[in-house]
Amino acid sequence: MREAIIDTGAITANVRRLKTVAGVPEFIAVVKADGYGHGALRSARAAIDGGATRVATADLEEAMALVRQGIREVPVLAWSHRPGPTLSVAAAHGIEIGVGSNEQLEAAAAAAGAGRPTRIHIQLETGPGRGGASLEDWPTLFTRARRLHESGRIDVVGLFSHLSGASRQDDLGQVRAFDQGVDIANLARLDPPLLHLAATSAAIWLPEARFNAVRVGLGIYGLSPTRDESSAPIGLRPAMTLRAPVVAVRRVGAHHGVSYDHTYRTSRSTTLALVPLGYADGIPRSASYEGAVTLHGRRYPLAGRIAMDQLVIDVGDDAVRVGDVVTVFGDPARGAVSADEWARAAGTINYEIVTRIGARVTRRSIGALQDPARGRNRVTRPLAPSGTRRRGGPAVISAFPARPPGWS
Ligand SMILES: *Cc1c(COP(=O)(O)O)cnc(C)c1O
Repeated sequence: MREAIIDTGAITANVRRLKTVAGVPEFIAVVKADGYGHGALRSARAAIDGGATRVATADLEEAMALVRQGIREVPVLAWSHRPGPTLSVAAAHGIEIGVGSNEQLEAAAAAAGAGRPTRIHIQLETGPGRGGASLEDWPTLFTRARRLHESGRIDVVGLFSHLSGASRQDDLGQVRAFDQGVDIANLARLDPPLLHLAATSAAIWLPEARFNAVRVGLGIYGLSPTRDESSAPIGLRPAMTLRAPVVAVRRVGAHHGVSYDHTYRTSRSTTLALVPLGYADGIPRSASYEGAVTLHGRRYPLAGRIAMDQLVIDVGDDAVRVGDVVTVFGDPARGAVSADEWARAAGTINYEIVTRIGARVTRRSIGALQDPARGRNRVTRPLAPSGTRRRGGPAVISAFPARPPGWS
């Protein structure tokens, strides 16, 4: 009844597009939080089809689930873990593990098996103050990692860090700090094949941060990481469409109060349609007064408060029947309200809109939605060469030469 249609063809195309934009050989598709609500397994598969060379999750458990479900053709990386036995199990599954401290490094080494070093990516703290080793720990961490690498207990696959996106200046400062980390690692004779700093935003707008790998989440689902730019101009297509059928239609007179507290009153006689999607399904209650949906290609405002299980729309005198399908959000190029618009209405970001879709909503894959408009809304900006690459990888062809997303 409540469904989120996932266009896996869009995910594949988005990965292809972003990989071209970033122009780096390694593309790590981030499928944490159940693929940002799209389903981790289907998102991983679709991303691999589009050229992803690795997939990543936050938690080790999510990474292990992917391996058990058959993601074997590319390595799976997970960077968020706590001390405990899970690490050994994850290492035995072949998961690549993010390591951000001496303790984590020793735990990773202890999780190695005979002839099976634990594969790690060393996480450097360069700004956001979350995970990762701080500058003063880098020399000892790298030296120890080098020793463990030589003894065959760990295999250092990558160095990475995460941008805070506070401002362009801040991010460039982080790029310099990361560069410094790479130099210090090299001095300790560590030269990992993968260097990754950029998530979606930097993969698109900050060539300096691309190194030879990008780690992209939101963009592969076709959403833009900034409020200043929507998906279509950057050549991305939203993959999720949230919809549900009308379950009741009611004709009411003027001044009819709707939903809790009667915060909405009809201005004239009208038709109200009941849609079985509420805040338990991830429709933010705070969007009650600005949210809108589409039905038969027309847009309707919400009437009154979003309830736990349902919302009401005022369709005026339009003909609406039980069973007609209401689209809450989807691809605006196909006429749907966007997840971005819902985010604005709720005072949040599109990341939160898609990741919070509830467990009652059935996810269903569609290979590639048939769309007459497809192709027209794709790449709307010419590709232009950007600055030269600093490390590895082919020459960069970038559509977005350092165009800052709302940075001061
Ligand atoms: C979530 C996450 C990403 C992906 O970020 P997007 O903005 O969704 O591309 C990359 N790296 C880390 C460490 C993350 O936590």
